Amino acid sequence: MAGDKIYALLADIVGSENVSNELHTLQGYSCDPTTNPPSLPDYVVIATTVEQIQKLVRLANKERIPIVPAVGMSNNGGLTIPVEGGIVLDLHKMNKIIEINEDIGYAIVEPGVTIGQADAELKKRGYWVSLPVGPPGSAGLMPGYILHGYGHLGGKFGINSEQITGMEVVLPDGELVRLGGCAVSPYWFHRTPIPDLMGLILGWQGSTGIVTKLGINIYPRPKFKAMVGWGI
Ligand SMILES: Cc1cc2nc3c(=O)[nH]c(=O)nc-3n(C[C@H](O)[C@H](O)[C@H](O)COP(=O)(O)OP(=O)(O)OC[C@H]3O[C@@H](n4cnc5c(N)ncnc54)[C@H](O)[C@@H]3O)c2cc1C
Repeated sequence: MAGDKIYALLADIVGSENVSNELHTLQGYSCDPTTNPPSLPDYVVIATTVEQIQKLVRLANKERIPIVPAVGMSNNGGLTIPVEGGIVLDLHKMNKIIEINEDIGYAIVEPGVTIGQADAELKKRGYWVSLPVGPPGSAGLMPGYILHGYGHLGGKFGINSEQITGMEVVLPDGELVRLGGCAVSPYWFHRTPIPDLMGLILGWQGSTGIVTKLGINIYPRPKFKAMVGWGI
């Protein structure tokens, strides 16, 4: 289809290969595994850089178009269904594990890093993170942290959002900010020592900012795992 003014502006930012308003593509982003009613976006856009996300947010702001960020679309609440149309911003191609810092015990991930990818990479080095037990390995790791998800180490270390050590986020006006110690040092070691502003982003389902990098605690992986089950 292509052709309209907004399509052309989006294609200028991400390239025409990364934007679509074809019905068959839009349909794939109109629903999720829940029973929530589907709703078509007007555009699907795949971003590959932080700068592109900043430009997209500025454009959407100017043209008053809603943006819904998405990775695996496996959340249990219909959260990536674009109920007011607009843009579904697919982040799956931004999938680098930027750093695994074994000295301090954190990893920095991009939004498209999947649960399976992170687990496989950390396993090679003898580490793991608090993994949600149910979703497919293709689900995003980051959404489970910024949504207050719960993983298999939650009993020990708290919900996943409590294990965030730093964040880079594009605000609704396109400004890029860092939250946590990474705002004032090269290390993403903890949310301190500056005031913790992460509550402005965590649990807001992408409506207050699009997270572009996340620091999370990593833990030594035990050599053996035991699982005990019982029933009545
Ligand atoms: C069978 C099953 C079992 C599950 N078990 C668990 C479990 O044990 N624990 C658990 O916590 N969850 C669980 N989930 C929920 C979900 O799968 C996980 O939370 C998963 O991490 C979500 O990742 P996703 O890539 O699918 O996120 P998406 O569905 O793509 O996005 C989720 C939300 O985050 C927003 N978002 C995505 N990326 C960004 C970004 N970069 N910046 C800002 N906002 C963003 C989206 O707009 C949306 O609101 C389960 C789901 C299923 C289907």
